[in-house]
Amino acid sequence: MTDDDGVRETWDASTWLVAGGRPAGPGQPLNSPPILASNFFDGGDHYYSRSDGTETTDALEALIGGLEGGAAVSFASGLAACAAVFDLVPSGATVVIPADCYQGVAQLVSDGEATGRWRAEVLDCSDTDAWIRALDHAGLVWLESPSNPLLEVVDLAAICSVDSRTALVAVDNTFATPLNQRPLAFGADVVVHSATKFIGGHSDLLAGIAVGGDPELVDRLVRRRTLAGAFPGALEAFLAVRGARTLAVRLDRAQASAHELARRLETAPWTRVVRYPGLPSHPTHDVATRVLDGFGAMVSFDVEGDAAAADAFLARLRLIHPVTSLGGVESTIERRARLVGQEHLPETLLRLSVGCEHVEDLWSDLERAAVSLG
Ligand SMILES: *Cc1c(COP(=O)(O)O)cnc(C)c1O
Repeated sequence: MTDDDGVRETWDASTWLVAGGRPAGPGQPLNSPPILASNFFDGGDHYYSRSDGTETTDALEALIGGLEGGAAVSFASGLAACAAVFDLVPSGATVVIPADCYQGVAQLVSDGEATGRWRAEVLDCSDTDAWIRALDHAGLVWLESPSNPLLEVVDLAAICSVDSRTALVAVDNTFATPLNQRPLAFGADVVVHSATKFIGGHSDLLAGIAVGGDPELVDRLVRRRTLAGAFPGALEAFLAVRGARTLAVRLDRAQASAHELARRLETAPWTRVVRYPGLPSHPTHDVATRVLDGFGAMVSFDVEGDAAAADAFLARLRLIHPVTSLGGVESTIERRARLVGQEHLPETLLRLSVGCEHVEDLWSDLERAAVSLG
């Protein structure tokens, strides 16, 4: 693998995305193909794919591990990666999650609380002092930044750099991507991604990744994956690598468009609150300018009117797809309050994932659909 010769240090992350995680050596394919095998002859690195992977997952793990600065473990989905981290929590310990948090993680935590697996605490993303205090008594401090869907940015630099702590510190880096934020460099113990989103980038796979700096922690995550049977499929791992090759170019374009759309939405007469970490009006804009290298491709905004008006707006869109999930080349939008467990959100809040279409076409689509809000 190209990561073994140390050149990662001298390359930009965008170069690593293209060059990293490739087979090397005479007669090897340029790209790691999908290895459709459960079992292998003795004597090689792989024995049974559920327990020790394949060359396809090795490629994905080398690629993303090289970006985040740790050893990566790939999973069948983002939530499988999250669940593996929660599995590390000792029974009866406290887990702390943000008030604005991916709803699958919030459900995982409330289920575990209901069965007595752990005690749960919820903190505001912006309450940095409370997060720092939690490091001393919790088993797991779970951060997500920017958060889904309010796009609040957590001061990871302040929180993760506190050395004396009892808690394992995990960061869901899905919205930032490894290009905009590197939590391990701030001092986090483990980073997770839903590779279903920006890393895969084409809305055609489910995969997850956890990256850790400490080899013993990484071994424990591999063991959780083995025993939960949460190994990704060969085609998904292959597609995740293939999608990640273009992450830098996709993200460059998508986040430039997102910033421009956020500026225009903010002054449009048919919106109320516009949430984008790059806007000076965003409550965590100052933190965002310090901890993020880019403001990302997600924009959340409230439209004028009620839930029915917001749904009518979505129904009038022709280019932006009113479907769930995010991070694809195709722009998608969703009214999150319609989901179970998301009733606390404003009913007209729309979460827009900006893709790679031309920004003027996206803006025309939004403006045309907004006629129904007048
Ligand atoms: C989608 C998502 C997940 C879960 O990932 P899946 O691949 O759907 O299992 C976790 N965290 C965040 C922030 C997400 O957006």
